Amino acid sequence: MRSFHVREFFETPRQQWRCLYNERFMLEFDNGEKLETITARVEVDRKLWMAHEYFDRLPILPGHHIGPGPLSNKRIQDVTSVITEDVDTIYGRGNYDREYLWLLTYRAFNRLYNEAVVEYSEYVRSVNSFDMCRLYEYPPLKAIRQQLRPTDKSMADCGKATLEILMTDPALRRNPIVSDLRAGLVKSEQLLQVLLVRGNNTDIDSHIYNRPIMGNYYAGITDPAEAAMDSTLAAKAIIFQGQPLEQTEYANRKLQFSSQRVDLLVMGDCRTPHLSSIPITKTRFRDMEGLTFLNPATGKQEPLRKHHWELVKDTTIQVRLAFDCHFREKGCICSTCYGLLANNIPYGANLGHIASVLTQSEVSQRVLKVKHSEASTEVKPITITAEQRRYILPGKLPTQIRLNDELKKRGIKLLLKAVATQQSFNGSKLPIVKKSDLVEGLSMAKYSQFMQVTFDVPTQNRQPMRYHITIGKGARMASLSLDFLRYFVKEGFTIQHDGNYHISLDGWDFSKPVFELPNKHANMKDFAGEVETFIRSTRDDSARHLGPLRQLKQYDDPVEALLDLHELMTQEVDAPFTHLAVVMLSLMVERDNPNNFNLPRAGVPVRFAKYDQILNNGSLGPLFAYQGGKKALESISQYLRKDRQAHLMDPVLCPVG
Ligand SMILES: [Zn+2]
Repeated sequence: MRSFHVREFFETPRQQWRCLYNERFMLEFDNGEKLETITARVEVDRKLWMAHEYFDRLPILPGHHIGPGPLSNKRIQDVTSVITEDVDTIYGRGNYDREYLWLLTYRAFNRLYNEAVVEYSEYVRSVNSFDMCRLYEYPPLKAIRQQLRPTDKSMADCGKATLEILMTDPALRRNPIVSDLRAGLVKSEQLLQVLLVRGNNTDIDSHIYNRPIMGNYYAGITDPAEAAMDSTLAAKAIIFQGQPLEQTEYANRKLQFSSQRVDLLVMGDCRTPHLSSIPITKTRFRDMEGLTFLNPATGKQEPLRKHHWELVKDTTIQVRLAFDCHFREKGCICSTCYGLLANNIPYGANLGHIASVLTQSEVSQRVLKVKHSEASTEVKPITITAEQRRYILPGKLPTQIRLNDELKKRGIKLLLKAVATQQSFNGSKLPIVKKSDLVEGLSMAKYSQFMQVTFDVPTQNRQPMRYHITIGKGARMASLSLDFLRYFVKEGFTIQHDGNYHISLDGWDFSKPVFELPNKHANMKDFAGEVETFIRSTRDDSARHLGPLRQLKQYDDPVEALLDLHELMTQEVDAPFTHLAVVMLSLMVERDNPNNFNLPRAGVPVRFAKYDQILNNGSLGPLFAYQGGKKALESISQYLRKDRQAHLMDPVLCPVG
């Protein structure tokens, strides 16, 4: 096998390369390392090596080579990001023009795409129905379809087996659909719906149909009931493009107004002594990459990188978080607290705007493309927080909830609302239940519907304390189980003056489920609403509200809030810690200074304020862009507040010069 040096390819035009058309050879890099590759790979490399043409001290390294395997968009991005990082390491921060480097990367992408379509035009192939037909009739795939049964397990197993064949079978290598799939250009879930089975689908209210759709898109969905079930996803897509999308987008806009309080990035180190302890899990680690942490091996603060995983997994590490930066009072964050993402921020860019757009844009994208994001349906078990576990516990099935038997020892009563509210009909239909109705197979959701229940905790010599727990989620509301309904009827009931049934739990068997949730899919609309409520603290519920309805203003410890917000976001989307920390900082005020709504000074204890308070008490630029500007102008209290933090939008309201 022949060997070539990488500079030969870099410095001579393609026509003068000594290697043959599609030759396999050894490629030697500037650092002396050698790799086996082929001509076509180096042709792609050469188009991406634009930064090397300008930054002549930048060596060509193995990481700048596209490598074997399908040429996906992600791989091209990975190579350019290695190049970008190497320029930074070799030239040193501040010694080169970052934005010019970004421009070169952008041009390199363009060069690759624009020139490749011309140069490789003879390789362009098409996909036709015969390719799909051959794939569908491929005997091993056919055999899997014959084994398919309408159960979750069978569908999952057959899906896995089909995918295994599609991804690895050498006989299918030349099929264009398979090669697109292997290159990551086709979504496997969607291909499985074509070749294998459509699977579970949801109704427009996110209720999961009892039976899956057993047809597939290749053979067609011929059963009328299945066709009707399949059509609801399209209906849902139309619904979601309307009001839910508007609401999500409006929430994004609101979030931007407050986040913009955090303004500029300061390149350097504020030298804050404050580090936060964060227990590392896999998901957290992924979104913490680049944060400055105290390396236990070296005792120094350095950026957290992928190769630190072995060092930090299952431990608690000390990190710098954006909201603890010493520059926060001025609306600034230093690049050390911000982490390596600082390298991606253009000069003069508003950090808050970037953070809110990047956390929210994916959420609205998902609402918009509900058809794709909810194509594969699953029931998510309800999440019960540590605080809630003092009262409720998960039942045997993922849709059941039982009570903690501690309740009996402490003489705690269960309170159920007896009157209907706008949200749910609660226990208003319970008086019509007869003993003879209560047989197996009864539809429990007909009799009761609860979003929230209350526990009455006796305290010495005083009024009992009441704790509210949210047990429903979005459109998914809990009903009483058959067992509990029997208990309820047997014990007899009266409605107390507070509009609740007070149920003593003395005779209850705590091993049985009390609540059941319908089979419902957690949908993106509900998710978007939950994120908004969390960040803006829009609900005015009692402070003693425990449950998934969490809000920033309930937290005393910002780190705990950050971890919970991260957990909430990562149920559906990626969320880098730094962006979340910036969004959170924008809602922080000083705890011991109740009338000051400016960003907190360095090192003082903080609390989270409600969104409306921040907007009403800050500079009025964003309030005018939001709503209620006229009211603010007419309110005397607005004229009493003089010390207000400047905002990005002030020049719009009050142009200077
Ligand atoms: Zn800092």
